[in-house]
Amino acid sequence: MRDQDKSAIAPNKAALDDATSEEGALSEGGEGVAGEGVDIEPAMIEAFSLIAQHTLPKCGACTVPYGCCATSHCEEAMAFAAGQMGVTLEPTGHPTLPLMGPGGCTAAPHLRPLCSIHACDKHFAGGDDNWIQKYCALRDEASDRLEEHFAKRGA
Ligand code: SF4
Ligand code: SF4
Repeated sequence: MRDQDKSAIAPNKAALDDATSEEGALSEGGEGVAGEGVDIEPAMIEAFSLIAQHTLPKCGACTVPYGCCATSHCEEAMAFAAGQMGVTLEPTGHPTLPLMGPGGCTAAPHLRPLCSIHACDKHFAGGDDNWIQKYCALRDEASDRLEEHFAKRGA
């Protein structure tokens, strides 16, 4: 990945890190059990879904699928979903990854934002500028929608 691409991403990554303190790998997932009193904008749901879909093909073909997942990331996603989205994510019974199901992560992408935006060097290897530019745009969009969500909630 080129240096200027990394610097373009960094500010939004930092904002998401501050907001969620969670990261990992990704796949499509469920919505969890909705709580009351937290409006979740469809635009935010779509933004995180789109970036998760953008990074998923390489993760799906990875030599260590879900190797980026960790118990702490699931726990942080559950805390984020409950605290910021009013959604209770139910543990799946997986021995080490509370949100991992037979077909991948059971949490919807907007409920595990840092997992959804996560990409590694494998994504940037080969210099696919079109992929990188789209990734940056999707990441900016997702970050903006999350910041709007926090602003609405006064978080
Ligand atoms: S982020 Fe990278 S290491 Fe992790 S699952 Fe995806 S491709 Fe593999
Ligand atoms: S929340 Fe999902 S994507 Fe994130 S670490 Fe847990 S199983 Fe992996």
